[in-house]
Amino acid sequence: MTEPPLEPPVLEVRNLVSAFRTRSGWFRAVDGVSLEIPRGRTVALVGESGSGKSATTLSIMGLLKPPYARIASGQILFRSREGTIRDLARLDDRSMRALRGNEIGMVFQDPMTSLNPTQTVGWQIAETLRLHRRISARAAAAEAVRLLGLVEIADASRRAESYPHHLSGGMRQRVMIAMALACKPTLLLADEPTTALDVTVQAQILRLIRGLQDELGMGVLFITHDMGVVAEIADRVEVMYAGQVVESAPVTTLFDAPRHPYTQALMRSLPGLQRSIGPRRRLPVIPGSLEHARESTGCRFADRCGFTEAACRAAVPQVAQLSAVHQARCLRSQELA
Ligand code: ADP
Ligand code: MG
Repeated sequence: MTEPPLEPPVLEVRNLVSAFRTRSGWFRAVDGVSLEIPRGRTVALVGESGSGKSATTLSIMGLLKPPYARIASGQILFRSREGTIRDLARLDDRSMRALRGNEIGMVFQDPMTSLNPTQTVGWQIAETLRLHRRISARAAAAEAVRLLGLVEIADASRRAESYPHHLSGGMRQRVMIAMALACKPTLLLADEPTTALDVTVQAQILRLIRGLQDELGMGVLFITHDMGVVAEIADRVEVMYAGQVVESAPVTTLFDAPRHPYTQALMRSLPGLQRSIGPRRRLPVIPGSLEHARESTGCRFADRCGFTEAACRAAVPQVAQLSAVHQARCLRSQELA
């Protein structure tokens, strides 16, 4: 028996496989990922570097481009504002461009990848609005100032005239958020947006995203290395390992009762984790590496796991349904409670 979801999902990724072309063939950075983002909720995607988090986001944004990268299979079902559902894995470039920056907002770790150094920040936000809305230059400029105020930039009308390099890192991050939110997206993709910021600024920015999310009813996919941030912002957590989601659960369940050995190892090395922003709590280092994990025929974590038995190496474990809201890709997850 499954419980009905609270809200229809804004995004539903089904069995996504995305690959990069390398000298030795196609490398499946994302290898069968499924996840769901309900309206107004935040899903955190965590996992060590190289696990495929950014490749998942790039797939959703339609930024994996042939001939160097491609979505090999799966579906990325996006519910638009009018309620129509489209598969982003099969959308043409023109339709995708119409969605990006409009119904789908994006924030990255480095704001300079999305800000143009040669234009004022006010102009850039206004330009985003003019690209997607029928709006006069004047109205767009005024709206840009309003948005800068919304992301708590003091003296917004003066700041609108600044160039990105005149602003602090925290302010540039706010500008990027203002730009991402300009067209009131229904989905926000945030790839380590606060990683480079100090703890106080980070906390302010997370509160800001939370507040705006409630206001806009936006679904958020939030990628982070920082378990303190996960505790602060996520409703649900997807733990990624070597291109696959290995555990998926509501945030409290994941912190209190993780069932995949990888998640358990992450949690064990975070003693006394308080569910608030404090000193940085980055993903701990777990002995071993995921370098050859994708070549394994069985469980990709087997070489680094303390519970591995013969069956673990025979085939990739199926996803075990531990409760209506909790899944783990582990043969032994039932015994590991
Ligand atoms: P994460 O964001 O979780 O750190 P990524 O999604 O960036 O991981 O990368 C997942 C895997 O894909 C890594 O093994 C990485 O080396 C590989 N990868 C990423 N980008 C490329 C690329 N452009 N070409 C080839 N391999 C890539
Ligand atoms: Mg990344």
